[in-house]
Amino acid sequence: MYRSWSANGLMDVNSALLHAGARQSLIFDADDTLWENNIHFLAAIDAFLTWLDHADLSHAAIREILDEIELANRGAHGYGARAFARNLRQTFRRISPLGEHDPREAEAEQFGLRILEQSLQLLDGVAETLATLATRHELFLLTKGDEEEQRLKIARSGLERFFTATVIAHEKSTATYQEIVATHRLDTNSTWMIGNSPRSDINPALAAGLNAIYIPHRSSWHLEMEEITAPARTSQTLLELASIRELTPIFAGSMTDVD
Ligand SMILES: [Mg+2]
Repeated sequence: MYRSWSANGLMDVNSALLHAGARQSLIFDADDTLWENNIHFLAAIDAFLTWLDHADLSHAAIREILDEIELANRGAHGYGARAFARNLRQTFRRISPLGEHDPREAEAEQFGLRILEQSLQLLDGVAETLATLATRHELFLLTKGDEEEQRLKIARSGLERFFTATVIAHEKSTATYQEIVATHRLDTNSTWMIGNSPRSDINPALAAGLNAIYIPHRSSWHLEMEEITAPARTSQTLLELASIRELTPIFAGSMTDVD
């Protein structure tokens, strides 16, 4: 089951199926859409908090400080395990009674750097779904973060063969989507952004005139969550799906009707 919106309110899902009759351009987010990502960061934060065993500050209070540091640094340092490790180090420095002279600072950073050693775990149904969709549509991958970290994940995923192009952006803004549309000469009417983040995948894609499919992940990064803004044009479609597997009946199932 899925919920759907359009500028006219709830749209008839059948029109989305019809809409998808022709060859479409499907742009996929990667972290927490194709593979697990945020769970590793949450586990690292838990391990960091346990190790800290701070005498005065609660876990919630320390998390708030980390949030504040992550928000302040994301423009300059971007995303990924290395940026996160630096943020942990900075958090530690802020709350340690010894401040910058605490020799355990480097140890604090290790909790973040260890994320780089995690094996890549594809989400359920991803490989089969992409394999099916790639036979009829043009697929793109758009991920944000550290170039080297994301490249490595893409290589490990074994999914690169399904994509016409993979793009690693520093941040995903409306301009990022407009640039992809221009570079690959995409038709916004038949282009869809598919991802788990309202802030990076859904809202900026809709603002750029694309269609969007929101697939929530049970463990999305809370700093990526925000209200989804309804599409401005009546021709735009916005869907919410429970699983990536539900893309198949929409984009591949409809093909048999059309052919
Ligand atoms: Mg994501």
